[in-house]
Amino acid sequence: MSRIFEITEQLLTYAPKADIDRVNRAYVFAAHAHAGQTRISGDPYITHPLAVAAILASLGMDESTLITGLLHDTVEDTDVTLDDVAHHFGEDIANLVDGVTKIGKIQFHSKEHKQAENFRKMLLATAKDPRVLIVKLADRLHNMRTLGYMRPEKQRLIGEETLHIYAPLAHRLGIHWIKQEMEDLVFSFLEPEAHRALLSKLEGRLNDLNQTRARLEGLIQEALQRKGLHASVQGRMKHLYSIHEKMQRKHVNFDEIFDLLAFRVIVDDMATCYQALGIIHSLYRPVPGRFKDYIALPKPNGYQSLHTTVIGPENFRIEVQIRTEAMHAYAEDGVAAHWAYKDGQGENPENYQWLKQLTELLHETENPAEFLESIRLDLFVQEVYVFSRDGDIFPLPRGARPLDFAYEVHTDIGHHCIGVRINGEVSDFSTRLRNGDQIEIMTSPDQSPSRQWLQYVKTPKARQAIRQWFRRQQRETTIQLGERLLRDTIGKKEVKAQTLKRLHCSDQEDLKSKLGRGDIAIGQLLEATEQESALPLKLAGLSRTMMHPASCCHPIPGDRVVGRFHATNGIELHHRKCSHVLDLADRDLIEVDWQPKPGQTFRTGIEVRAQNRRGMLAQVTRNIATANAGIEDLKLQQRSGRMTELNFLVEVEDRVHLAQVIRAIRLIDGVARVTRHNQPVSFPGKQVTRQIGETLRDFFSRKQGGKR
Ligand code: MN
Repeated sequence: MSRIFEITEQLLTYAPKADIDRVNRAYVFAAHAHAGQTRISGDPYITHPLAVAAILASLGMDESTLITGLLHDTVEDTDVTLDDVAHHFGEDIANLVDGVTKIGKIQFHSKEHKQAENFRKMLLATAKDPRVLIVKLADRLHNMRTLGYMRPEKQRLIGEETLHIYAPLAHRLGIHWIKQEMEDLVFSFLEPEAHRALLSKLEGRLNDLNQTRARLEGLIQEALQRKGLHASVQGRMKHLYSIHEKMQRKHVNFDEIFDLLAFRVIVDDMATCYQALGIIHSLYRPVPGRFKDYIALPKPNGYQSLHTTVIGPENFRIEVQIRTEAMHAYAEDGVAAHWAYKDGQGENPENYQWLKQLTELLHETENPAEFLESIRLDLFVQEVYVFSRDGDIFPLPRGARPLDFAYEVHTDIGHHCIGVRINGEVSDFSTRLRNGDQIEIMTSPDQSPSRQWLQYVKTPKARQAIRQWFRRQQRETTIQLGERLLRDTIGKKEVKAQTLKRLHCSDQEDLKSKLGRGDIAIGQLLEATEQESALPLKLAGLSRTMMHPASCCHPIPGDRVVGRFHATNGIELHHRKCSHVLDLADRDLIEVDWQPKPGQTFRTGIEVRAQNRRGMLAQVTRNIATANAGIEDLKLQQRSGRMTELNFLVEVEDRVHLAQVIRAIRLIDGVARVTRHNQPVSFPGKQVTRQIGETLRDFFSRKQGGKR
């Protein structure tokens, strides 16, 4: 059990000028506030804040953080108010305690939706001061250490939350030992049998491993000394959970895990790190692909080290990490190392880069489910580092692709990206970026995002930017459409306030967007405005994004058409007899008077029954071309030995034009029937017909000199 004088003594070792009196007062204040309360273990409650403060002292945290540790549960669990804390210890401490209290109120283990929202609040509430997160980690670590007193279902909830939220958070903050201890504790509570089994196996080999460890420590140390390097070499066992995870991931037994040992070589300066690496590689054969230089390219949490894996004696794979003393301190305690007491030194804002990125993202997020997806990603994936053309380094998650990079540079660069050069070579959007790639993004002002891009992005930032672009686009479309409908039905751009109220709309824009989405039917609008009948919607000037002929029945101007509201992108025009609209209620449909701009062309299907003889296909296509229509697609089906059925998708201006095309085909000798094809076409043996269509298209582009 921790005692307050031990904590203050430790504080004095690294912060000689600390105000011990103030820490003691915080202890008395907390003890007084929690008087009479007990932990589930039966211990007096004050043992918990004391233990938290002790963990913080072991991280070398400053006086304020220790005081926050002592007070962290007072506001939540006792009569003490934030004002009391501010009064006795100042605003700074009150803010920190408030931050920890807010996180304490967050429940992660509800539904996923809720989880994300809460996590978001947590980060927003705390990102201002990372010390809050460090106190929370210490709090959670102690709660995990005493989890055995909880009921099993509570253990599971807290354990899972720790594994999914706090251990990754500790990792991201670079506090490695907290991450490892949390993982091992979760492992012991959630999978007690596997944990016990692994532990007993490990115990069986412990002597063996310890001997190997000592021997290797000696060997490496000696080799370095021979070359005149001063270094300390420490071997250690991997932590249980990482062994367990590896066994699961690789589906292997304990006996098949060869890299149970890891070694750390700590040297005086950076240059010596590389020298030591060279010596170790000359001593033992390095495993290809396992060398990583985190000194030249630090991890985003600030971690620096050289990593390598070598084949040691008896084919033992050993991991070796080489670093300086300063890098080591940072590797152990991470961000906390920067918050540790240092005379007259402030924080280094660069270490909070990832936190800043997360909070930026939070402000742009509307959809919590999307956010959870983003956050999980952000906490778990490793990074790749790529260079911009100017040589700036960009960290991206592993698996990131060119569009991720483009959006990372700037949202507008992303939106207008038309291509990419990787290391000088033109590459496509699906290429995965590798460490050290140099990326050059080509842009065009005419380019805009496509939905397919969502398949090629990995970063939450890019995904959000693209989704947001589409959301904005859709919104504009529906509002424009709604405005159009309003004008065409009641002849005005706005309605009276009472009409809005009758239709349950908050304002004019709300009404327009509901009309545009089809949530309010034309009939309802007429009723609310007490008008009799609506003129059909005139469709001449509508943009393609608002109105598009349906691809099932392929209507063309002159046909009797009806509009159908599409959930997200405007109105689909259907042939009045199309089976897709026959059964729909009136409110989902809209009367349309379709008069396109001259020169616009539309696709429609025609079916030709003709004698199956040589040259027939060529002649039909030639006559279609002569009638100035384009051919978009062709499907072919053998009816009987004598007759063939050809299905064309042709591009025409309207019904009159289509009639000319049909007449032109009928002129051919051997054509039995030409009809319009208004229903979806599907054939067995698609493969064959597609091939023919392809060939035909080739033939056409040659013939017409690329007219189409
Ligand atoms: Mn607590």
